Amino acid sequence: MPGPAARILAMGGPSGREPTARGLARRDCLCCGLAGLAAAAWPGRAGAAEPAAAPSPALVADLVAANHILFDQAVVDGFGHVSVRHDKQPDRFLLSRSMAPALVQAPDIMEFELDGAPVAAAGRTPYLERFIHGAIYRARPDVMAVVHSHSPGIIPFGVAGGAALRPVFHLAGFLGPETPVFEIRDVAGPATDLLVRSDALGDALARTLGSHAVVLMRGHGSTTVGTDVRQAVFRAVYAEINARLQSDAGRLGPVTFLNTEEAAAAAQTGNGLVGRAWELWRMRSP
Ligand SMILES: [Zn+2]
Repeated sequence: MPGPAARILAMGGPSGREPTARGLARRDCLCCGLAGLAAAAWPGRAGAAEPAAAPSPALVADLVAANHILFDQAVVDGFGHVSVRHDKQPDRFLLSRSMAPALVQAPDIMEFELDGAPVAAAGRTPYLERFIHGAIYRARPDVMAVVHSHSPGIIPFGVAGGAALRPVFHLAGFLGPETPVFEIRDVAGPATDLLVRSDALGDALARTLGSHAVVLMRGHGSTTVGTDVRQAVFRAVYAEINARLQSDAGRLGPVTFLNTEEAAAAAQTGNGLVGRAWELWRMRSP
């Protein structure tokens, strides 16, 4: 079983001092998730988690590609992130260090436990909102990938009273008859920065997501899940497109949405078409 340094090198990452996961987790707790370089000096406790089996290189490559595609498709900009569940250890997930998704490369991919603790940070700073991912992986064993974004077309549906994001065309059938909205004030009061910066907030978000594919986050953005990273990207792209189309259609007149049966049938068909879109998007953003 390779040690942390060997594991990081195997993923193409830097070597050097590596704080233990639990050491970082403790520091995260003390400073509200603001893990930084100082955490590298934090002494780990005995029995700290270490990387075990390396994830598939193909999975890491898809995760890097997903970062680039989501930028190219205008789902993320300098902010937002995408993760995958570890294919060898389902109680861990892979997510870039804190950086703009378009710039992510394999050495930037970090491994996390489901409570958001980095397994071998090696000086890399994690995203503040990594708790979104871990909490959803805990709550949803079927979920293998998570996209969190602030894509602008969706934002109005989380803030406008009476508005609800619903499928207006077949490629967004996965939205189902309704899309839930997470109200952070309900669980964290009226004075947050809207970010999901703790495991408890991640749990609350996952509860609102329930069994849906997408959850809107009032005044913030949205989170989309999938059974693999390609499907999660597909859904994140088409959720954003659907939001724009729905806004456009609403200005023209009363909108006819897909009904529940149509949405379910269209979602099933769409699942078989994910690869076609992925190949095109992959070509556009090598
Ligand atoms: Zn966010």
